[in-house]
Amino acid sequence: MVGLADCNNFFVSCERTLNPALENQAVVVLSNNDGCVVARSNEAKRAGIKMGQPAFQIKDRIQSGEIIALSGNHLLYREISLKVHDIFRRYAPMTLDYSVDEAFLIMDGIPDSQLRSIGEAIAANCWDELHIPVTIGFAPSKTLAKIVAESCKKRGKRVGVLLKAEAARPVIQKMSISDLWGIGRRLSKRLYTSGVYTIADFADKDLGWIRTNLGINGERSWRELHGEHCIELSHVQTQLQDSVSESRTFPEDVDDYDYIRARIAIYAADCSKKLRAMGGECQLLGVMLQTNRFHLERGNAHPQGSVRFIEPTSDTVMICNAAISILERIFIQDLPFKRAGVWLSEIVPAKSVIPSLFDSQESIREKASRSLLMKAIDNINLGPGIPILKLASQITQGHPGHNDGYSSTFQAPKR
Ligand SMILES: [Mg+2]
Repeated sequence: MVGLADCNNFFVSCERTLNPALENQAVVVLSNNDGCVVARSNEAKRAGIKMGQPAFQIKDRIQSGEIIALSGNHLLYREISLKVHDIFRRYAPMTLDYSVDEAFLIMDGIPDSQLRSIGEAIAANCWDELHIPVTIGFAPSKTLAKIVAESCKKRGKRVGVLLKAEAARPVIQKMSISDLWGIGRRLSKRLYTSGVYTIADFADKDLGWIRTNLGINGERSWRELHGEHCIELSHVQTQLQDSVSESRTFPEDVDDYDYIRARIAIYAADCSKKLRAMGGECQLLGVMLQTNRFHLERGNAHPQGSVRFIEPTSDTVMICNAAISILERIFIQDLPFKRAGVWLSEIVPAKSVIPSLFDSQESIREKASRSLLMKAIDNINLGPGIPILKLASQITQGHPGHNDGYSSTFQAPKR
C-alpha cells in the first residue's frame, strides 16, 4: 500500500502558524510579484477565489477587507515543509518527497489494519507540533492514493484507506478526468471529445484504446487506477522547485556586521550551488534577519528585503553581491540577531534563458565565460560540506563557539 500525505492549503496554513488572527478568514497568498493567487484558505475557496486568479481581479475585495491577501514568505514555507516531511518519515518505512507539501509514504511490510491509525498519528502530530493540517490517503497505487486524499479533503476527513481499487468507483464517477494525476487540461480536452468526462469513464476504456491514444503515460495511469503500481516519480514531470533557501540560527546573538555579512555570503553561495545543481536560474533574491525571540531586551525585529534581477541568473558572484547589498539596506546597527537566511525564487530552467535584445556580443561572451567559471567551481566543490573554493566574502573571522570550517585567520575585507 502507498499513502499520499498532503498539507491542506499549505502556504495559508503556514501563515496561520505565525498569525492566529488569520484563522476562519478568507486568506490568499499571492505569487512573488503579488501577481496572482497561489494558495487559498477554505474560506477563500468558498468565496469563489480561483487558483492562479490575477490579484487585480480581486483588488476591490481585498481593499474592502473581505479577502486578506499576503505576499509569500518562502523561507517560512520551506522551514515548515522540512519539519512536515520529518514527521512523515517518522511513520513510514520509506517516503518519496513529491512537492513542498506532499509526500508518498511507501508502507511496505505494514499490515493494512494499521494504516488508519498511522495516518491519524501523522495528522495529529503535524497539527500538535506544527499547527499544519494534513490529509492522508492510503491505496494500492499512487494515483489511487491521490484520489483518496483528494476526496477526504472534500469531505473534511483527515485519513482515508482504500484497500481495493474497485471500491474507488463511487468517488471516481464524480471526479472530472482533468483531476486525474498526470492528465493535464489539454489532454482532458482531447478526452472529452471521446466521451471521457470522469475518471471512471477513463478507467472503463479498453487498455488497447488507451495505449493507442495516450501512449505509455496513459497506460500507466489506467493501470494505477486498476490497482497496479506502475508510476515512479521519475516518470512524472518534475517541476522545478519554486524556491531554494538556506538559513541558520547562530550559536549566540550577534550584532557584528562583518560576521553576519559573511554568513549571508555563505548562504547565498550555497543557494546558488543548489540552483545550478537543479539546472535553474532565479529572478528573485531575498535576505532576512531575525532577532532572538527569547531575548527581547534590546528590541525585536525581522527585517527582510529582496531584489529582482533584470535577467535570471545562477551566478554565485552576482547573487552574493546582491545579497550583501540587501543586507546593507536592512541591517540594524546595535541590534543582536539570532538568525539569518537567503532565498532564491522565480526559478526558471537555465536552458530557456536566451540573451536579451540589448546584450552586446561582449556581454554574451562574458556570460558564457562566467557560466564556465561556475561549472569549474562546482566541480572543485563537488559534494556537500564546506567548499574548497569560496569567495573572499564567505570567509569570516572565527566567532566564539562557532567552528564551522569557514573561520579563517584572514580578516574579511572591510565594507
Ligand atoms: Mg497541498
